[in-house]
Amino acid sequence: MKPILPVITIFSTMLAAVAAENLQLPPELIILNAAVRTMDAARPQAEAVAVSGNRIAALGPSAEIKELAGPKTRVVDAGGRSVLPGFNDAHVHWLMGGYSITNVDLRDATSAAEFSKRIAEFAQKIPKGRWILGGDWDHEKFPGAALPTKEWIDAVSPENPVFVNRTDGHMALANSLALKLAKVTKETKDVPGGEIVRGASGEPTGILKEDAAMALVDRVIPARSWDENHAAALAATEHAARVGVTSVQDMSAGVDIGLYQFMHERGELKTRIYAMRSILSWEVLGKTGVRGAFGGDWLRIGGLKGFADGSLGSTTARFFEPFSDAPNTRGLFVDQMLPEGIMLKRVEAADERGLHVMIHAIGDEANYAILEIFRQVEEKHGPRDRRFRIEHAQHLRPSEIKRFGSQKVVASMQPYHCADDGRWCDKRIGSERAKGTYAFRSLLDAGAVLAFGSDWTVAPLNPMEGLKAAVTRQTLDGKHPNGWVTEQKITLEEAIRAFTMGSAYAEFQDQIKGSLTPGKLADLVLLDCDIYKIDPAQIDKVKVTMTVVDGKVAYEAR
Ligand SMILES: [Zn+2]
Repeated sequence: MKPILPVITIFSTMLAAVAAENLQLPPELIILNAAVRTMDAARPQAEAVAVSGNRIAALGPSAEIKELAGPKTRVVDAGGRSVLPGFNDAHVHWLMGGYSITNVDLRDATSAAEFSKRIAEFAQKIPKGRWILGGDWDHEKFPGAALPTKEWIDAVSPENPVFVNRTDGHMALANSLALKLAKVTKETKDVPGGEIVRGASGEPTGILKEDAAMALVDRVIPARSWDENHAAALAATEHAARVGVTSVQDMSAGVDIGLYQFMHERGELKTRIYAMRSILSWEVLGKTGVRGAFGGDWLRIGGLKGFADGSLGSTTARFFEPFSDAPNTRGLFVDQMLPEGIMLKRVEAADERGLHVMIHAIGDEANYAILEIFRQVEEKHGPRDRRFRIEHAQHLRPSEIKRFGSQKVVASMQPYHCADDGRWCDKRIGSERAKGTYAFRSLLDAGAVLAFGSDWTVAPLNPMEGLKAAVTRQTLDGKHPNGWVTEQKITLEEAIRAFTMGSAYAEFQDQIKGSLTPGKLADLVLLDCDIYKIDPAQIDKVKVTMTVVDGKVAYEAR
C-alpha cells in the first residue's frame, strides 16, 4: 500500500475537520462491543463505531462511543463480531450479474419434472411474449444424462418463447414457440460448425449445439428492454448489499450508465458504481474532456477497459513459452492488440486526456506487453497520479512482479479464480511457471497495490469466497487442503485490505472510502462472527448480519 500513504496523510487533517462537524449531531447509528478492523494504519482496531449522516463520525472504546448516543440513535450490540469497511469489488460485470439472478435458474434441476416446473413458475411471473433465457442447466444431472427436449417445457410455456442454455454455453434448448419464431423446422438444413439435434422423424428436438446453430434462434431474440435491465440492476444491487459489497467497478458498463443514474436519482442504488467503457471507444469520452474517476460518491465514469489476451481455460492466454499440455501454441494477443502498436497508440491517446486505463492480461507475455505500454506512455507524458491497472495479472515472471511495484501499476486480481484455475493450472503451464500464478505474496512484497474483486458473474460476488481463496489457496476440487502454491498465500488482514483500501485506491477513492476513518463515507459491514478468530477454511461460511451504505442500513439479516 506504499503509494497510498502520502495521500492519506494529506487528507487526514481535512477528514478530522469533517468528523468534528459530524459529531455535533447525535449519531444515527452506533455499533458497540465489536471487533472493528478499520484498515486504517493510524488506528487498525477499535471496539465501537459511530455513524453520523453518511460519514464515520467516531471510533473508540464502547464506553466512550456510547456517550455520543442521543434519544434517536440506534445502538447495536455486536457481541464481539467483526465490523469491517464495506467491500469494494474492483472487477464485476454488473448487469450480467443481475441477469444471472433475474433469469430462470435451472442449475440444480435434476429431472425433467423439476426442469418443467421451474420454467412453468417463471413463465407465470412474466408478461406474455417475453423470452425466457439463461438457465444454466446441466444434463449430466438428469437420469441417464438425457438431453432435454422441447416437449419437457412446451405445455408450460405456450405464450413465452424459451431459449435456455447449458451451463457452459455450448448448447441451448428452445421451446416450440421459439423455434417457430426462428423458423427452424424439419426442413432447416444443418449449419456448418453447429448442430440441430433431431428426433427419429427429423423433427428438431429443441437442442441447438454451438454458436453457429444457436445463432438461428439468437437472432430473433429482441434486445433487452429498459425495464428488464432495470430489474436486473435492482437484483444486482440487492444481492451486493446482502453479501456486504458496497462499491463495485463495472468493467462492462458501456451504455448502462444512464440506467444507474436513473436508479440513483430514485434512491434505488445500494452500491456505489465506477462505470467503465471499452477502450475501443475512448474517443467518446475523450471528446467530452472528462477525466478519470469523474462524478460523485455514487456514480463515476472516466475509466477505460481493454484486453490484451484470452484466458487460461481456453488456452488463449498469451505466454512466452508454449503450454505444457498444448506445445503447439503459446496463446494469442486478441484483436485489440492488432496490428502491433495499436494498443500503445490508444493508451497514449487516452492517457493524454487524463482518462483512466485498465487492461486485461492473463499470460506472462501479455502482462509484460502491457507493462511495457504503460512504461512507454509514462515516459512520454511524464509522472502523474494515473493508477494504470492490469486486470487479472494472473501469470507473472519474477521480473514483471517487480515492475508492478516500481511502476506503481495496480494489480486488480480475483482470488476466487485461483481456487478455480488451481485445479488444473499445473497441467497447463507446469509447476515452475505456476509459482508466479496469482502471486499475491510476491506482489505485495514488491510494493504493488493489490485490488481484489470477483469477476462476477464468472465467479460468485460474495467476497468471503475471495478472502478464503487468497488466505488458504485451497482449490475447489479439495485436492490442495493446505493450499496450492502455498508461498503466495497472504494474511486475512492483507486480503481484506486488498478488497477495501486496495480497490478504493484502484478507483481514486481512497481519500473518501476503503477504511473506517472518521470523516470517510459510512460504508461498513457487521459479520455474524469474528472473522479473525475462525478457521480460515470456514471463511466462505461467514454471513453478513448488516450492511451499511452511505450511513443507511442497506441490508439486515432477519
Ligand atoms: Zn471480467
